Amino acid sequence: MNFLYRVRNAAARFMYGRNGADQLTWALLALYFLLSVAAGFVPVRAARAVIRLFAAALAVLALLRVFSRDLEKRRAENAKFLYWWGPKRTFLRDWRYRRADKAHKYVKCACGAWCRVPRGVGKVELRCPKCGEKTIVKT
Ligand SMILES: [Zn+2]
Repeated sequence: MNFLYRVRNAAARFMYGRNGADQLTWALLALYFLLSVAAGFVPVRAARAVIRLFAAALAVLALLRVFSRDLEKRRAENAKFLYWWGPKRTFLRDWRYRRADKAHKYVKCACGAWCRVPRGVGKVELRCPKCGEKTIVKT
């Protein structure tokens, strides 16, 4: 058994029964990183210190969650976070997709559905496939 193998085994033994890194952990670390960078742009020294302290608290919280043995609580926290974050993530993904698609124009209907119309065909009457409402759209 070489040294690296033993280190890896020891780490695996240490992490056994612990939470490890989940989505909430990564979100906390991302927020920590963002705040740390943003703090550099704050001109007031005291405010900068407060932001850095808050960011450090988030990083510590993230680490505590990684090494926690209370899996039930950590999973409930993560589930709560995913429930909150899921719709936002979907919206961001869809928004990036719509923005990248230069061949179509996306029109939001009053019912909340996104309707896709080809670009450059002039004025068209659009009938929403979800609620059936008709609108005139300039493409
Ligand atoms: Zn509609």
